[in-house]
Amino acid sequence: MTETADYVSRALERAATVDDVPQDTPLIAIEKVGIVGAGTMGGGIAMNFANIGIPVHIVETGQEALDRGFATIRRNYERSASRGRFPAEEVDVRMARLTGSLEMNDLAQCDLIIEAVYENLDLKKDIFTRLDAIVKPGAILATNTSGLDVNAIAAATGRPEAVIGLHFFSPANVMKLVEIVRGRASSNSVIATSVDIANRIGKVAVVVGVCPGFVGNRMLYPRQVQARELLRQGAMPWDVDRVLKEFGFKMGPFEMSDLAGLDIGWTKGVKSGDDLRDALCEADRRGQKTGAGFYDYDENRAAVPSPVVERLIQEVYGGPENAPIPSDADILATCLYPLVNEGAKILEEGIAQRPSDIDVVWLYGYNWPHHTGGPMRWADSQGLPVIIRRARELGQANEWYKPAALLERMVDEGRGFGDL
Ligand code: NAD
Repeated sequence: MTETADYVSRALERAATVDDVPQDTPLIAIEKVGIVGAGTMGGGIAMNFANIGIPVHIVETGQEALDRGFATIRRNYERSASRGRFPAEEVDVRMARLTGSLEMNDLAQCDLIIEAVYENLDLKKDIFTRLDAIVKPGAILATNTSGLDVNAIAAATGRPEAVIGLHFFSPANVMKLVEIVRGRASSNSVIATSVDIANRIGKVAVVVGVCPGFVGNRMLYPRQVQARELLRQGAMPWDVDRVLKEFGFKMGPFEMSDLAGLDIGWTKGVKSGDDLRDALCEADRRGQKTGAGFYDYDENRAAVPSPVVERLIQEVYGGPENAPIPSDADILATCLYPLVNEGAKILEEGIAQRPSDIDVVWLYGYNWPHHTGGPMRWADSQGLPVIIRRARELGQANEWYKPAALLERMVDEGRGFGDL
């Protein structure tokens, strides 16, 4: 085993241990799972449990949405069977473990309920209040929110100790990571059972604390913002994506944006404060789903650099101001050093237990290149002084990028994340 592979395997072992939750914490038996919402995430999450023989009941608001959700699940299973992952008969066996209805009361006897409705705090709070009123005592009430306040959701119930975040990644039937987001009040049994059930469905579980975006999405944010800054400096989306793919990511930040859709939170005719995004969306370039976004897409859905986007970038940002266009090394540092700095803040706030947990989040939730061991280990290999130097530069214009106090301390002491 190489040194990095050895590091990753130890990181995985450690991630399964929650320091303040005793190993002998009693587990809650999970024999029936309920899901609220049969959309992209709800359907994928349901498959994980059906795969290991646990019956799942899914609740939706309308029959059409429910039927669509079930049809997608069946299609996914059929595709897996056609690729030889399991025998064709297994499709019906797994589908038979799934039931659906439009009636929240049908979740009353579930041991674990996972909410996967739209990312809206008021809607989620309302659903948790309703679940609290009907679900049997002792059940776990989980939310798949991508970054909302799990404590606020828990406070909408009379049993905050039963509430936890189970943050699956898309596609939820494929991606390995589940961030287990412990709320202020989540009980030890709820935390330990969440880790256990995540492992039983074949996932890698990392326990994290509550903050906007948790560990993964909070660190992703500065990377996406800085990728956009590079366009202002004269780089093109395909330059940035190429550099990150050469580094080892499967997808660059702009390909990722096109896949997610550029119109999340955008309304036609309304300025969002993000002029380039507005211009792309107004031109009906809203990502892969409209056949164009930061890229053009050919008939095989392959991303092709777009002269239209190049022109739009120049119109919106006015072209580079005599400054040299960022080099490949600049692009990498600009995208990734702020992400590491945010990781250091997450450690200092106790949102992640250890640097290796952050590495596991990125390796298994975001396909960070395995050969580097994850962002924190990679940062050690770069040397923390270069990371702090970049944070100081960026921090001059925007407080938010200033070096984490932990990073400053480690550099002063000549230590790295591996020494923590
Ligand atoms: P989606 O729009 O695909 O699905 C949401 C579903 O919830 C819809 O089918 C809708 O009809 C249903 N719904 C809405 N209100 C409901 C109610 N009151 N009762 C029952 N069903 C209701 O959304 P999604 O992409 O699956 O996201 C769901 C959650 O997962 C969000 O909180 C999102 O932030 C989170 N998440 C999404 C991703 C992703 O990449 N899509 C990744 C991780 C987490």
